Amino acid sequence: MIDLRSDTVTQPSSEMLAAMAAAETGDDVYGEDPTVNALEAYAAEITGKEAALYAASGTQTNLLGILSHCERGHEYIVGSRAHTYMYEGGGAAVLGSVQPCPIPFNSRGELPLDEVEAAVKPDDAHFAITRLVCLENTHAGKVLSMAYLDEYSRRMQALGLRRHLDGARAFNAAVKLDVTIEGICQYFDSASLCLSKGLAAPVGSVLVGSKDIIARARRYRKMLGGGMRQAGVIAAAGLYALKNNVQRLADDHANAARMGQALKEMGLPLANPVETNIVMLAPEIDTTPLIEHLQQHGVRINGHRWVFHRDISSDQTDHIIAACRSYRNEHAGE
Ligand SMILES: *Cc1c(COP(=O)(O)O)cnc(C)c1O
Repeated sequence: MIDLRSDTVTQPSSEMLAAMAAAETGDDVYGEDPTVNALEAYAAEITGKEAALYAASGTQTNLLGILSHCERGHEYIVGSRAHTYMYEGGGAAVLGSVQPCPIPFNSRGELPLDEVEAAVKPDDAHFAITRLVCLENTHAGKVLSMAYLDEYSRRMQALGLRRHLDGARAFNAAVKLDVTIEGICQYFDSASLCLSKGLAAPVGSVLVGSKDIIARARRYRKMLGGGMRQAGVIAAAGLYALKNNVQRLADDHANAARMGQALKEMGLPLANPVETNIVMLAPEIDTTPLIEHLQQHGVRINGHRWVFHRDISSDQTDHIIAACRSYRNEHAGE
């Protein structure tokens, strides 16, 4: 099956598995796993941050970021359709007593900065204390411009607010803009970067930030039960991914762009232009018969959002396009 449901479905390559098999390990709760230490040092280096922390998932690194910036009774501003707000079980509120203040993303995936400023609470006993503003890059495959990030960063700092990035797909943004990951991370106090999305590692995310933030995050990671022992076995895959699988994201972007173009030409509209590895069909399309048809042609989708990744080749993209054409031919005139 060709699986478009997410870029989390990739299988580790034989080179990655070899790196895992060869990993030197130790007890990471004692700080003695050389492979985890190497991954954290490398992640800090390429993002231009003082320190990094390896964790089980992006949900955990986002939570660690929020908990490390905020105290009980603080508030964080976040997109109302952001992963951190919608799809992480409300962890910041449940486990940190940190209240979210959701505001809508605009069509570019930005939080409009005037609306962010208007949402910041005055120093008054009625209100929670606004502490942090989270962005997501990419959001629904959309890339935040460097000009926007620069203005966000300057305005948030002027307000004395902390800045966290949900960068589950920040490497896709960096490759698309042809900037370094440090170029994007410079605008944030902390960033969560997934190794298990487009970078194609089987597990793991890193949180990067200052020494102080990462020290706090390390304590919370242990508290959450996320202290792992000979984690070098999986960290080796993450390190391999960071060193080998970043530039190839451009292939996923090219396949997604070709797919988007073909769908438009077939009269299947998109919700927004393809910018990176995600193709979003327009919401008015009924995907139920399409799911069924593609299934019969060996292609798995779960709705409007189609995600390209390392395990979908250019030839397989041709196959998906042909399967969509045959669907259109069978449903002509509908
Ligand atoms: C996948 C994802 C995460 C983290 O997900 P995990 O499955 O917990 O690793 C966070 N934010 C966004 C935008 C994501 O797509």
